[in-house]
Amino acid sequence: MNKKEKVMLGISGTALGIGLLTMIIYRKTIMAKIESAVWDIHSERRINTLHPKIRNRVRAFINEAERQGIKLRVTSGYRTWDEQTRLYNQGRTLPGSIVTNAEAGESWHNYALAFDVVEIKNGRALWNNANWSKIGKLGKSFRFSWGGDWRSFVDKPHFQDDFGYSMAALRQKYLSNQMTNGYIDLA
Ligand SMILES: [Zn+2]
Repeated sequence: MNKKEKVMLGISGTALGIGLLTMIIYRKTIMAKIESAVWDIHSERRINTLHPKIRNRVRAFINEAERQGIKLRVTSGYRTWDEQTRLYNQGRTLPGSIVTNAEAGESWHNYALAFDVVEIKNGRALWNNANWSKIGKLGKSFRFSWGGDWRSFVDKPHFQDDFGYSMAALRQKYLSNQMTNGYIDLA
């Protein structure tokens, strides 16, 4: 290799280095954007109650929906077993109307792996929304399963990732304290 070739190799090596660095920075910027806090502080507070393994994916979903013109609010995230009991008792032993058939430990929310959303438009929550199927499809593209696909009880606001566990298996983990910082250990 003569001197000129060495110089050329040096230049192309530097160019490759700069190219790679640019790619890394670009990727980091994109990831930071995807994982950055969502538009709505109420949603952000609820996202922070969810299992750490799904938080950023929930943010990515909400941020992408916003980019597509749909402002989603997370209306429910992790629900403690006590909160679930209170909710279950509503309309039964407590005043109000029945809102759930799930007792403590019977809701995916009790394992911090489920969340509910609703579109907010002009300050109002659109529970009856022509956009539901679009929202469901978008959520599924972030590897969440959608309550809108359920047969027995269609639950359009609801998304979850069970990480392949049955509820019985999650319950067993909870009861045998296979938890870290209050969250179920997922393999
Ligand atoms: Zn739900």
